[in-house]
Amino acid sequence: MTRSLAEAAAEASTCTRCALAEGRTQVVFGNGDPHADLMFVGEGPGFHEDRKGEPFVGAAGQLLNRMLGEIGLERGDVYVGNIVKCRPPGNRDPEPDEIEACTPWLVEQISLIQPRVIVTLGNFATKFVLDTTTGITRLRGQIHEWHGRTVIPTFHPAAILHGGGEKSPQFAALREDFELVRRTLDEAAPAASEPGPAPGEIPRMVPGVADGPTPDVDQMELF
Ligand code: URA
Repeated sequence: MTRSLAEAAAEASTCTRCALAEGRTQVVFGNGDPHADLMFVGEGPGFHEDRKGEPFVGAAGQLLNRMLGEIGLERGDVYVGNIVKCRPPGNRDPEPDEIEACTPWLVEQISLIQPRVIVTLGNFATKFVLDTTTGITRLRGQIHEWHGRTVIPTFHPAAILHGGGEKSPQFAALREDFELVRRTLDEAAPAASEPGPAPGEIPRMVPGVADGPTPDVDQMELF
């Protein structure tokens, strides 16, 4: 039997699979529509997220919300998560062993949510999800087919803010990328007369990963 996202989140809330558990205030599993067509993947929780237990609630989250608003969406319409679910000390990049320990949660999230479009926010999430060394500047602005879904990489909102916000040369690119997300969602949307996809109709990332309560890490050769 497939468990729900809420059940997965409940198990994740006590996760001690890596050393990040020691320094966190709480696990930031992710939030939003559990059946969203559009999912965002960031790097990892920062200070505010660690305190609140929700992803993208600080300044970067405000910019994310603004960009969503520009394409007619609200946070509740999408799902937002991160590569790692616990805050790395001092907001450093997650270490490979931390990512490896946390990947099953991300795999399970995608497998349960079945988003049609995944937006990777920033270099780190993009390189990890697309398994590439190519930088975000070259990958953004395009759609990438990945495990039967569409990945659209864009700049991390925090990078835009550090670069001057609206004055940043990358701000226009961020806006363009969100317009691409809008068009892609519109193209991917089933016609009103067609039934929506049944679970499993869109290929799962890992066959069977959502079929049991504890995903088998060995099966997850995805990224
Ligand atoms: N940056 C991220 O990558 N994720 C968050 O949740 C917040 C900031």
